[in-house]
Amino acid sequence: MRILIVEDEKSLADIIRKGIEEEGYAVDVAYNGEEGLFMAENEPSDLIVLDIMLPVVDGMTILKRLRKAGVRTPVLLLTAKDTITDKVSGLDSGADDYLTKPFSFEELLARIRALLRRNSAVSSSLVGIGDLVIDMAAHEVKRGGENIELSAKEYALLEYMAMNRNKVLSRTSLTEHLYDQDFDLDSNVIDVFINRIRNKIDRGFGEKLIHTVRGAGYMLKG
Ligand code: CA
Repeated sequence: MRILIVEDEKSLADIIRKGIEEEGYAVDVAYNGEEGLFMAENEPSDLIVLDIMLPVVDGMTILKRLRKAGVRTPVLLLTAKDTITDKVSGLDSGADDYLTKPFSFEELLARIRALLRRNSAVSSSLVGIGDLVIDMAAHEVKRGGENIELSAKEYALLEYMAMNRNKVLSRTSLTEHLYDQDFDLDSNVIDVFINRIRNKIDRGFGEKLIHTVRGAGYMLKG
């Protein structure tokens, strides 16, 4: 999953970026509203963490412009003001959730996970695909009761496929949702990761869960 952070307090933006990257998400950061609006409209983000008080273009204006342009990406607003009016106007303008500063990083992560699930094929943080079980809160994967160790990026790829289970995902779409804008999209890195995950979750088990769809991409099915 790929997350765009629009936050002008550089130290806060960098802390959020670092923490979210450690969870295996790809992260893009914009430090002002103009850049944030451009990236929100042009990068394939799965979620936008949007500060309200921003230089050049403020967060509420960005939100309204995105929704007017038909951009449906979930938006989590960050607000410094804990007033009912701000929350109501944020939600009425198309925000999906909000968090008042200062917030705990654990809460930010829990809200991010909940918002990402909302538009996906999964309804709780515990996902079962055949005898494969993914615990999205703990980042633990088991198949047939056996623990499976995955690297952060392998986990992120498997999680993205689980959230889009039974859908064919192209290499381009997988790359776009797993890497930030600085990544070279032509790389065959997805094939490499798919092979590694296959060796861990499919090899030695009866039913194959990862399917190659010739000329189209990959699908997690079960
Ligand atoms: Ca701010």
